[in-house]
Amino acid sequence: MRPIAENLQEIKGRIAQASAKAGRNPTEIQMIAVTKYVGVERMREAYSAGLTHFGESRTKDAKEKMEELSDPAITWHFIGHLQTNKIKEVLPAFAFIHSLDRSSLAEGLGKEAERLGKIPNCFIQVNVSGEESKSGVAPGELLSFARRVRDIGNIRVVGLMTMAPNTREEAIIRPVFRRLRELQQELLDLGLERISPHFLSMGMSNDYEIAVEEGATHLRIGTALVGR
Ligand SMILES: *Cc1c(COP(=O)(O)O)cnc(C)c1O
Repeated sequence: MRPIAENLQEIKGRIAQASAKAGRNPTEIQMIAVTKYVGVERMREAYSAGLTHFGESRTKDAKEKMEELSDPAITWHFIGHLQTNKIKEVLPAFAFIHSLDRSSLAEGLGKEAERLGKIPNCFIQVNVSGEESKSGVAPGELLSFARRVRDIGNIRVVGLMTMAPNTREEAIIRPVFRRLRELQQELLDLGLERISPHFLSMGMSNDYEIAVEEGATHLRIGTALVGR
């Protein structure tokens, strides 16, 4: 496998180019190394290469990795589908949850957050592309969902998250990211308490450059960065 430092250098170069094209400052973009496909050794290599934000999608794997890599300098992101029976494990361990996608989850999170006296930082996942295989709130339901989250309380919405269709076609990908940014603005305009979606979590190995051009603040990159 290619050294992570080399992958990282290449990806950083591409992010810099895409940022320049869009008139953005690349330092406002956080790269999350999605390590769900790889083991602890590869994660140590990633850490040595300077990566400190890790994204995991399964609680069991993540727990094992956290035990081996317990380092307060690491920020853990939960990026997968979150089952309500896993809330108790996820909430204390992860700094960010990228997959707040339904009311039952928001209710469970709110309850557990109250018990722990901790307000989780969440991204609302939006199913912009409308693919049946994808989780997420429908764009037309985002504002009412956000009001519901506000009413539940104890949850801070820091951003919106989406996944573009798995294709190489820019003409399909770009409008998905652009739409998420429009939805972000609509939600910001509402000014709901604790609903401050200043972040956009979008862009993966296939499409992160387009995401940067469309305003991403958090890139979730697995295969291209750490392999699989
Ligand atoms: C796996 C995964 C990624 C990373 O995918 P790559 O194509 O390997 O970069 C990003 N986001 C989510 C939600 C994922 O499940």
